[in-house]
Amino acid sequence: MGGVSKAELFSLVEKVDKFALGVLQNFEFIETPGGMVIVAPTEEYRQWITKFLSSNFKYLLDKGLVEISIEVPQEETTDPLQCITSEGSHNVNKRYKFSNFIVGEGNRIAYEVCRQVVQAPGSGYNPLFLYGKVGLGKTHLLHAVGNEAISQGFRVCYMSASDFSEEMVEFLRSGKLKEFRIKYKSLDFILIDDVQFLSGKNRTQIEFFNIFNHLYLKDKQIILAGDRPPDELSDVSDRLVSRFEGGLVIELGLDEETKIKIIEYKLKELGVEPTETVVNYIYNNTASNVREIEGRIKRFKIKGFEKERVKPSQTPANQIERIKRHVASYFNIDVEELSKKKTTKKVNMVRHIAIYLCRELTDASMSEIAKAFNRKDHSTVINSIKRIMEDSKRDRKLARIVSLLHGKLKKRI
Ligand code: ADP
Ligand code: MG
Repeated sequence: MGGVSKAELFSLVEKVDKFALGVLQNFEFIETPGGMVIVAPTEEYRQWITKFLSSNFKYLLDKGLVEISIEVPQEETTDPLQCITSEGSHNVNKRYKFSNFIVGEGNRIAYEVCRQVVQAPGSGYNPLFLYGKVGLGKTHLLHAVGNEAISQGFRVCYMSASDFSEEMVEFLRSGKLKEFRIKYKSLDFILIDDVQFLSGKNRTQIEFFNIFNHLYLKDKQIILAGDRPPDELSDVSDRLVSRFEGGLVIELGLDEETKIKIIEYKLKELGVEPTETVVNYIYNNTASNVREIEGRIKRFKIKGFEKERVKPSQTPANQIERIKRHVASYFNIDVEELSKKKTTKKVNMVRHIAIYLCRELTDASMSEIAKAFNRKDHSTVINSIKRIMEDSKRDRKLARIVSLLHGKLKKRI
């Protein structure tokens, strides 16, 4: 006889006791090859489920199809140092260091705080939560901290939240949850990446919460990274979110100047001379994403500049796209925001500027420009141009920004 799935168990329970279905929501169900482990959150629940199953589905317990376990962590007896040492399975990638991380306005605070944290772990910024869009160096910084901490003899472990979860389930299945806990609780630095993937993984969250508290109380350093701030994580328990918010939360971005510095650095690293034309070319053909920049540079190196460039990239439509991207990145907003119908005042202003520049710098017709911004017709374009011309007369800061962007884009498109 095969195992029993969660769905099967629920439909069995529904037939005998609908009320019990509600109570079952408090348990975790982990399907194993031979059956299932039901994890009770407390001793009370463990007693309840044991009694409930014994009186209604005794055969499940007798045949070993269902096993009952309890969540509360037990006291540790094994020597934790045996499980992870500074040479142990820390998963830290040597390639990512502080020394090859380019620092600029958008990532300076994150960089500095990461450096400080290695000097004084667990004291100042605990936990440290880094967030930002993909390709901005979150993973790089976690590993950089890891490498530095290892070199100082600390016990470190880097894990993505998904791997952490998978590992936890493996240990649970093989009945070695205690070892899993010991491994993590004996760390000096825990670096958990892509925490957004904790979403919906309730059992993992419970386990992580316990480890988190244990390390936190011992002043061990916890660093988390994700694609959004803690309060925007979905399906992550409130108690965990509030722990994440309890330390320092830092957003990573990529400003224009740093993007250029990174392009120059990466070109040199690959042995390509970073001339203005090449740098501009890479700049204009990539979003605010260092991974994309790296990919583009590698392709460029393989194919050569001419082949990469021969593409018909100078069409008005492409030029509009570049202007949109550049202007959005200058104001640190998502380029897609510009095409949305409902937006904030700031985004509206940024759109006016971008539209104005499209009209100034490309041969695109007004209706082409309107379409590129998801607007109905040329009246939008006329309106934006009017706004910028009039406002620039009164607002010198605006005039300066528009002229700066105009100058930069003129060279690049
Ligand atoms: P994220 O985790 O934020 O998605 P990663 O840390 O994986 O981004 O970065 C993507 C790639 O870009 C990596 O190869 C990383 O080394 C590189 N990178 C990101 N930011 C920088 C930076 N400031 N300086 C140098 N390389 C960087
Ligand atoms: Mg990452």
